[in-house]
Amino acid sequence: MKATNEGVLLLNGKEVGFIEGQTVLEVAQVNGVHIPTLCHLKEMTPTGACRICCVEIKGMRTLAAACSTPATAGMEVFTETEKVHKARRLIVELLVSSGQHNCISCEANGNCRLQDLVYFYHIEKQAFASPEVPLYPTDADNPFIVRDFSKCILCGRCVQACNEMVVNRAITIGYRGAKSKVVTGGDGSYMGSDCVFCGQCVEVCPVGALVENKGRGTGRNWETKKVRTTCPYCGVGCQQLLHVKGGKIVKVTAVQDAQPNKGRLCIKGRFAYDFIYSKERLTTPLIREKDQFREASWDEALDLVASKFKEIIGSDGPDAVAGVSCARSTNEDSYNMQKLFRAVFKTNNIDHCART
Ligand code: SF4
Ligand code: SF4
Repeated sequence: MKATNEGVLLLNGKEVGFIEGQTVLEVAQVNGVHIPTLCHLKEMTPTGACRICCVEIKGMRTLAAACSTPATAGMEVFTETEKVHKARRLIVELLVSSGQHNCISCEANGNCRLQDLVYFYHIEKQAFASPEVPLYPTDADNPFIVRDFSKCILCGRCVQACNEMVVNRAITIGYRGAKSKVVTGGDGSYMGSDCVFCGQCVEVCPVGALVENKGRGTGRNWETKKVRTTCPYCGVGCQQLLHVKGGKIVKVTAVQDAQPNKGRLCIKGRFAYDFIYSKERLTTPLIREKDQFREASWDEALDLVASKFKEIIGSDGPDAVAGVSCARSTNEDSYNMQKLFRAVFKTNNIDHCART
């Protein structure tokens, strides 16, 4: 069935419509035809770096990368030919041989696109020899992100995420040929770079080259339950997935395609989840008596606050009190707060702490 009037091409012998500007990969995805990808990052500029999405297009001398080839009217695209699978298999063999992909201990085991492709192509052993010693040491000198260069397939997704998704521009691909590497400015560690530790690069890495530091060894992908929630830190309301094992959060990722963050999180939303397990967290209201705090029940604390409000308003009028609601509050809580001040206390002294 034609999707639009914009153009028609043949996809594996079937006529399909496309919108001008769509790539061959996007046309295939819209029509339920699976083409594997590694470097492709949705809605970002296609790089065609990994070539795993190669397809055969009638009249073209070589295979084309579906992610960076625009769909054109009358094009005949084949995604499942012997030539295509032979090329994809070779790409996977080369990627596996280019580093040290020890799946047994890798944090990405069970959530790795390269592993999926190795499985799909029944690659039982390495076709080419791997370097015996990693060319670059692992960078783990910060509390958030571990960079294991021996597992990096140089797909460039992390660079695109940093440059285009979060626009921090902290990393790029440096050096040449076999020495290529994802580098910060000056090729130092993340710690001394422009990195703000948003972790977006970790989120998009399709293998185990970038992983959360504190989440290491705490739960495999298949062991964790994914619970969708709204980030508690600020009023933006980013959608996140809590990865929960044994009732404990072991990792946080963003919900893809959900507003308002569309797969992005900041450093707090992604990494600062363990405050909920802090022993210093307040669990009961505290009432100050002279210089000391003492624990109180909610009833006692609320009665005290209400009586103080009444006392101040009674002696100095409603404009003697003001309210500043918390940036972490939900819209509904903030609404209730302004109702309390405007409708009950009769003052417009109400604001919202928008800074996070
Ligand atoms: S953590 Fe964020 S800022 Fe740092 S390199 Fe990754 S994407 Fe860029
Ligand atoms: S670190 Fe991950 S996302 Fe970045 S280039 Fe390497 S494999 Fe790709």
